[in-house]
Amino acid sequence: MRFLFWLALIGLVYFAIRSKLKAAQRNMQRREAAQQAAQQAAQYGNPANPSSPASITGGETMIVCSHCSVYFPASEAVRATIAGKELVFCSTQHHQQHAQQQAAPDSAP
Ligand SMILES: [Zn+2]
Repeated sequence: MRFLFWLALIGLVYFAIRSKLKAAQRNMQRREAAQQAAQQAAQYGNPANPSSPASITGGETMIVCSHCSVYFPASEAVRATIAGKELVFCSTQHHQQHAQQQAAPDSAP
């Protein structure tokens, strides 16, 4: 019976140490990833470097909505040609609103 008790105790200690080590490893990896992200941000977000546009964040180009002037990722853009001009919108809703304003400009007070 005593032998079983010690076996269980050793097993518990072993698993406790292993889980602690795993948590520490995960923390280190997270810290390294954060450092890399900070380095990348410093590279891309540096306004003193003209070769890196300030509008690019994390490799994604940011563009302005023609309706509400809000910056958003180019991959989410709604593109449309209104009155011969190619415009981009942050949503289909703003595309429709802008198109309605263009179609009836004197409806505004
Ligand atoms: Zn918009």
